[in-house]
Amino acid sequence: MRAAILAVGSELLGTERLDTNSLRLAEVLERYGVELAAKGVVGDDRGEIAAELGRLLGRFDLVLATGGLGPTADDLTREAAADALGRPLVFHPEIAAWIERRFRDHGVAMPESNRRQAEVIDGAVVVPNPRGTAPGMRIAAGGDGRRDATLFLFPGVPDEMAGMVSSHLEPWLAAATAGRGAREGRVFKVAALPESTVDDRIRGAYAEFGRETITILAHPGEVQLHFWATGGEAERRARLDAVAARLRELVGPAIYTADPAATLEGTVGDLLRGRGESAATAESCTGGLVAERLTRVPGSSDYFLGGAVAYSNRLKESLLGVPGALLAAHGAVSEEVARAMAAGARAAFAADWAIAVTGVAGPGGGSEEKPVGTVHLAVAGPGEDEAAVEHRRVRFPGDRRRVRELSAQLGLEMLRRRLAGLPSTAEEAGSWR
Ligand code: ATP
Ligand code: MG
Repeated sequence: MRAAILAVGSELLGTERLDTNSLRLAEVLERYGVELAAKGVVGDDRGEIAAELGRLLGRFDLVLATGGLGPTADDLTREAAADALGRPLVFHPEIAAWIERRFRDHGVAMPESNRRQAEVIDGAVVVPNPRGTAPGMRIAAGGDGRRDATLFLFPGVPDEMAGMVSSHLEPWLAAATAGRGAREGRVFKVAALPESTVDDRIRGAYAEFGRETITILAHPGEVQLHFWATGGEAERRARLDAVAARLRELVGPAIYTADPAATLEGTVGDLLRGRGESAATAESCTGGLVAERLTRVPGSSDYFLGGAVAYSNRLKESLLGVPGALLAAHGAVSEEVARAMAAGARAAFAADWAIAVTGVAGPGGGSEEKPVGTVHLAVAGPGEDEAAVEHRRVRFPGDRRRVRELSAQLGLEMLRRRLAGLPSTAEEAGSWR
C-alpha cells in the first residue's frame, strides 16, 4: 500500500504556520508499515485542491487530506473532493442536528454557515469529530474507470485531527494491513548522551540486524532509537526482542524508557512517587527550566516541592544558604557552589532530593578557566552532607538555549540514576566532559 498526504490551507503556504498534521499522519503510516510516497500543501483554492486530489487518487492507494472542512467560505475541501471524485454532496440532517446540539450545549445558536459541514460526499463513511464541528470522511474511490483508492478527509485543527486519527484511521490501517506481515516498531529513549556516542555504541546492532532496522533520532539531550520488524506476529516479536536485548546491552543504563509516551521528567516523577520521596531545585543558569520540566507532569505536586531560581549571588546566599565566602573564593560557577546549592535547597525546602545547576550559558561571561558551556550540576540525596553530594562538571556545546536545555536534561538524568540505583552519568563513556 502506497500513500500520499495533502495538507490544505493557504496559511500553510506562508511563513506563519507549518504543516504539522502531516508529521502526525506520517508517524501513523510508518507504524503500520505503509509507504508514504508523497506529501504536499495546497492553498484554499477549489480548483487546485481538486486537481491535487485527483492526481494523488490516480497514483496512490491511500490519500489522507487535512484541512478545509471548516464552515467558512475558504473551506473548500468537501467541494473539491466531490469534484475530483465526480460525485455529489449530500446533506445529512442528522449531522446538522448534531452540530446544532453541540452549539446549543455551549449556549450559542448555530451560525447558518455551519450547515455546510453536514454535507457529505455521496457514498462516504462519516468519521465523527468529537472535538469539533467538522466531521471527517472516508471514501472508497474507484469505479468508472478510476483507480481503486481510499480517501480520508480530516479537519485541519491538529487536536481534532489527532483524535480522529486514533479513533478511525488507526483501526482502519490495522485492518487494511492485517495478515500481510505488518511492520511493528519500538522505541528506546536515551537521556543525556550525545548522539554520536549512542551511534558509536550501537554499531554492533547495525551490523547484526541491518542498518535499516534501527533509526537514530536526536533531540536536545535526548536520543531516540526506533527499531522495526516485519512479518507475522511471533516472528516480529522475536526479532524486536532480539534487537531490544542487543541495544540494552550496548547502550546500558542511559536508556530511560521503552514507552513511546514517557518523558524523562515523568520517569523521574514515577521513581520519586514510588519511593515516597520529594524533590526540590536550585537553579541559576537554567532559570527554572528543571522545575518547569518537573511540573510539566500532571500530579507532580505529589513529589515536587518547588525550587529557587537563584540567579544572583545574593539570592544564592539568602535563599539557599550558600556561604558568601565560598562564592568569593570559587565563583558562582564552581563545584563548591553547586554542591552548596543542592545541599542548601534540600535543607531550605525540606526535600529528600535536590538538583542544583550553575553554569555559563553564554554567549558572554566565559573565561579561559570557565568557557561558555561550562556547567556544574549537583544532586543531593537523603541523609547526605555536602561532601556526599553528587557533582558533575561538564562543558556543553552549542548556544545559550542548547546549553540550558542540556543542563536541565542532565540534571534530571543524574537524579534518575540515583533514584533508580544505576551507575552515575559521570562514569558513562562518551558522555559530555
Ligand atoms: P477544519 O476543517 O477543522 O475547519 P480548517 O483547515 O478548515 O480545519 P482552518 O481554520 O483553516 O480550518 O484551520 C484551523 C486551525 O488548524 C488553524 O490554526 C490552522 O493553522 C491549523 N491547521 C490547519 N491545517 C494544519 C496542518 N496541516 N498542520 C498544522 N496546523 C494546521
Ligand atoms: Mg484551512
